[in-house]
Amino acid sequence: MTVISSNLGYPRLGEKREWKKTLEHYWAGKIDEPEFHAETKALRLANLKKEQAAGLDLIPVADNSDYDHVLDTIAAFGIVPERYGRFHKQLTLDEYYAIARGTKDAVASEMTKWFNINFHYIVPEYDQPHFELLDNRWLRFYSEAKTELGIDGKPVILGPISLLKLGKRNGDYLDAAAVDELLPQLLPLYKQVFTELAQAGVKWVQVDEPTLVKVATDAEVKPYETALNALRQAAPSINIELQTYFESIDPYKAATKLPVQAIGLDFVHDNGENLQHVLNDGFPSDKVLAAGIIDGHNIWTSNFADKLVLIKRLQGVVDNNHLWLQPANSLLHVPITTKNETKIDPVLLGGLAFADEKLHELTVLTKAANEGQQAVSEEFTKNAAALKALNESEHRNNAEVRAAEANLANETFERHSAFPTRIALQHKKLQLPLLPTTSIGSFPQSKLVRSKRAAWRKGNITDAEYEDFIKSEIKRWIGIQEDLGLDVLVHGEFERTDMVEYFGQKLTGFYATQNGWVQSYGSRGVRPPVIFGDVAYTKPITVKESVYAQSLTDKPVKGMLTAPLTIINWSFVRDDISKAQVQNQIALALRQEVINLEKAGIKIIQVDEPALREGLPLKKRNWKPYLDEAVYSFKITTTGVRDDTQIHTHMCYSDFEDIIDTISALDADVISIETSRSHGEIISSFEKTHYDKEIGLGVYDIHSPRVPSVEEIQANIERALRVIDVHQFWINPDCGLKTRQEPETLAALKNMIAARDNVRASL
Ligand code: GLN
Ligand code: ZN
Repeated sequence: MTVISSNLGYPRLGEKREWKKTLEHYWAGKIDEPEFHAETKALRLANLKKEQAAGLDLIPVADNSDYDHVLDTIAAFGIVPERYGRFHKQLTLDEYYAIARGTKDAVASEMTKWFNINFHYIVPEYDQPHFELLDNRWLRFYSEAKTELGIDGKPVILGPISLLKLGKRNGDYLDAAAVDELLPQLLPLYKQVFTELAQAGVKWVQVDEPTLVKVATDAEVKPYETALNALRQAAPSINIELQTYFESIDPYKAATKLPVQAIGLDFVHDNGENLQHVLNDGFPSDKVLAAGIIDGHNIWTSNFADKLVLIKRLQGVVDNNHLWLQPANSLLHVPITTKNETKIDPVLLGGLAFADEKLHELTVLTKAANEGQQAVSEEFTKNAAALKALNESEHRNNAEVRAAEANLANETFERHSAFPTRIALQHKKLQLPLLPTTSIGSFPQSKLVRSKRAAWRKGNITDAEYEDFIKSEIKRWIGIQEDLGLDVLVHGEFERTDMVEYFGQKLTGFYATQNGWVQSYGSRGVRPPVIFGDVAYTKPITVKESVYAQSLTDKPVKGMLTAPLTIINWSFVRDDISKAQVQNQIALALRQEVINLEKAGIKIIQVDEPALREGLPLKKRNWKPYLDEAVYSFKITTTGVRDDTQIHTHMCYSDFEDIIDTISALDADVISIETSRSHGEIISSFEKTHYDKEIGLGVYDIHSPRVPSVEEIQANIERALRVIDVHQFWINPDCGLKTRQEPETLAALKNMIAARDNVRASL
């Protein structure tokens, strides 16, 4: 017996995003259900064949999905919210998609972020739990892979405890008591799945329990034990691989005692803690250590020499029969292959590994683990040369950037005066009315905007024509905002497809992939920029548009930038230096842009940090360094201006209470926060905590086309004013309006202004 290679899951999208097209064609009525199934099956088998061809020893099955794996599990176990009806047999496609996308009578289920990465899942609802095994999809896909391709696969199933903990009851995530209460109802269904899998001859099942990395104490491991014991009893012939990812396991000893045959640990995104546990506390000799050694959510070529050192350390603890090598998490979260990056600098290409390249790395390293490095010496030489070329390239050795970084330690980044002094100067200069009213930045990106951009990219219209078009949109919207009666205007962000991509195109060190798509949610893919080199400012980014907009009006126009942390969180970031270092490079570049905006006469500059909250580390004990770094880079970006220049920031989905100190420490003069989805909570946090700066709590939800009434918005304003001083309060929508249609946007803004006028009149 030897060390073997195993995978945890393969990307769904398809090299040419076939999967996305199939889903969307079905939704648009262009294909019927049988065609849908034929197309998804072809893709599923093609993906499996690739894994087979890569030489993987243990191939995951049932990791495919028609939307996301949590929704699949919801549908399989009949955890369908009652508003869609009651089901006693496998859901049809329409019934399945109703949960994800809603129907005209029933709203869609909530969607939320999958741990700390940019993927979103449908949240199970346990309000009126009704559990019934409607579809043993794990058996279906296991049998299919076996009959069609001769693959004796490893079904992947989301474990019962995580399925419960990831869901909500009456709007709140299930607590320990609720998990204990619901588990006995859910477990028999899992047992049935396992019994049927055992009958079909399944040898290994991968039970994903990612929530185990968020558990702090031995006592919290108990429910996992209860569940796993039940599965074992139901199917003693099945071996269970208990899979964790995205972090280390704190109650390591208790976890390694769980009744399973293999434990999957993440050795990449664990801050080195899993390795410390294994080295210090050992690993049970009767279990397999399924070692996640390849980065599953970043895209860099592994350093083979370093990985072999890690493997050897693990081989010092477990014997080869008990060691598997794996990606650290499902490859779902990385793009499929670098081979379709045809226009890329070969030096960068050598440093990139998407899913297929990662599988290849895995087989090389498995061979090295079994036969020694000399068995794959050519691969090792090639690997070292590629990494050396990238690390030594000019992209990663910008002397000016390095000098500026080195100088950071000698500088402090503070505004000249404290907030009370600044705000008085700003009030004097800006002369805004009480309850100043603004928007978050973007206006609808209409079909016309998108088609002009596409034409420009294809070279069908010239740069000048495109610029003129952007200007005409800016002008039109400055007029609209003046007519509506907003006090602080924006240029509308028409020149940006995406608030991160846009900055990536203008700074050095970024690469925009041609085909680096990853699933964000459902059929929706994103192509995160790749930050591969030193980030430097070479030319103004947004100044032209802001200055043009300001030239059209006497009202102040806000400059609009994306803050460093958000750029980092929504990109693939180089891993040869620390994230903080990259973040500071971006901050130093943006600082120059902020200064240039001020020089060009812009009086208010908004620096958006929407991803601050969602990027929080999974373990609370790691929050502080992350938040400190967020504050530091925000202050590098924003403190180069005069006291009378007003700095704004904006955040989405902010659970305000537990990070209020950070929000205040950013020292932004004005903050706008998305509020309507958790209205009561955020507002009530102001009863408990004093916030001294100016603030706009979004007064209506922009995430739906629905136009809120004047009364409704007015009630939101009045409610906020009960806890926030009227002199501190700003009126604005919840977030940018980019994804909305123009008519509904105009109607909603009109109502917002009317509500504001009513409140102003009542003061
Ligand atoms: N300024 C950006 C916009 O209005 C902010 C977007 C965001 O918060 N995600 O689109
Ligand atoms: Zn927002």
